[in-house]
Amino acid sequence: MKITLLGTGSFIADLKHGGPGYLLEINDKKILIDAGSGVQQKLLQLDVNPDDLDAIYITHQHADHATDLFAIIFRRFINYLSDKKEPKKELFVYGPRDTQKLIDDLGKVFKLESMSGWKWVQGIDLDGEKDFDDFTVEAFQVEHLNVVSNIYRFEAEGKAIVFSGDTPKNKGIEDATKNVDIAIMDASNSKDSVPDKVHTNTFEIAEICQNSCVKKIVLSHFRSINYDKDLVAEVKEGFDGEVILGEDMMEIEL
Ligand SMILES: [Zn+2]
Repeated sequence: MKITLLGTGSFIADLKHGGPGYLLEINDKKILIDAGSGVQQKLLQLDVNPDDLDAIYITHQHADHATDLFAIIFRRFINYLSDKKEPKKELFVYGPRDTQKLIDDLGKVFKLESMSGWKWVQGIDLDGEKDFDDFTVEAFQVEHLNVVSNIYRFEAEGKAIVFSGDTPKNKGIEDATKNVDIAIMDASNSKDSVPDKVHTNTFEIAEICQNSCVKKIVLSHFRSINYDKDLVAEVKEGFDGEVILGEDMMEIEL
């Protein structure tokens, strides 16, 4: 398995931190987790054609995690127009709930009503476990502000990785991270941030991952108010394993 951190920022992107997105490669499968601002171009920088994605897993429908979803779907339609044939691949878009409705709504907002009838893009709600030939994915549903958000745990080749999405400390993230090799965690908040019940802070990340026996933590989803904080050191105060400060385009093999 290989993971590339496409975007480690949040909604307000800057030159170093694009909107959230992660490319997970398992054998010949290319899976995108979240499609924040800039993800389409980041894939192209990696020489990964967004048309070749097998599936997209949206953690939740907040804009910072889904702004490039329409762009990625739309480019397949453009190829269809020029080739006069169906896109080469079906695209499966997973999410916590109302995923097909999200696709339909995007089509309406951007004046492409026919999008809701395209058979080659399917929105699928995912809660719990789903097995594929090469991997298993399990979605853990958590409350995040005004939406349900999915935490995704992928297992393949005897390894496990978790993408926390946006989550406060709760049972979902505690269960999802049990004994994983890598946990990509929502580091929106420093330990000194005002508790917001929406995102974990570094103190909570350490507590969750220490209790879950996580091997390696990768911090992501940064906010500019914390750029001057040593988030890695804060997590290390309560966590014995390896802690990495995620960076856009960082590649991690496991
Ligand atoms: Zn977010």
